[in-house]
Amino acid sequence: MNVSVGHLYRDYLNIYADRGNIAVLAERARLRGHDLEVVPIGPGDDVPDGIDLFYVGGGQDREQALVARDLVRKGDALHAAVERGAAFLAVCGGYQLLGRFYRDRNGEELPGIGLLPLQTIAGERRMIGDVLLECGWAGRTLAGFENHAGRTELDEGAEPLGRVLAGFGNDGRSGFEGCRLGRVYGTYLHGPLLPRNPWFADRLLADALGVELSPLDDELEAQAHAVSAQRARARGGRY
Ligand code: GLN
Repeated sequence: MNVSVGHLYRDYLNIYADRGNIAVLAERARLRGHDLEVVPIGPGDDVPDGIDLFYVGGGQDREQALVARDLVRKGDALHAAVERGAAFLAVCGGYQLLGRFYRDRNGEELPGIGLLPLQTIAGERRMIGDVLLECGWAGRTLAGFENHAGRTELDEGAEPLGRVLAGFGNDGRSGFEGCRLGRVYGTYLHGPLLPRNPWFADRLLADALGVELSPLDDELEAQAHAVSAQRARARGGRY
């Protein structure tokens, strides 16, 4: 089977090697005999039909401002694609733009596409460092790195991606990080995220392909996860 990944704004939203997530998805798909095709989707581009998984990385306020209104023009097509079963991973600045809006430190409000039930307002102090989450819904942990000024507030009843074991997470207070709604996942975790959290890469691929995947030997990935988790724990509490 082929899996088609729509990579949104790869020339604008790609800090902390976020595009490394695509390489992990491609390799883990290949190891199960699936070809992964990457379709770049930039400003002015239409959202192609037949995308199985959308991906958008993180970026500074300036880059978010350069793409936000173009993303809104793609909003209806992205909502329709998700309703048809497409999966979606959004990281940090991309995650913020999947909500209703992101208000930056100057008070400028960037519109979002409302694919996730949340909104984000930047605070004075940046939230930076290693993070460790407990994802009860998967019985797993996620380890990564965060660097954001935005404080994300989930709507009442919205599902977080995980509970914060170490780090700031969505706002440094709620004790939760990210958001998930069906096959749509948003997170502040950079790193890139997927090399040290292979179970989550497989979750996205399984959602995109609609099949369960055979296990792989993830010894090296498990070590990378352990190192990242240990760094986060060493960091201790939040503030
Ligand atoms: N510019 C956003 C913020 O500061 C997102 C940052 C990022 O993607 N790392 O919160």
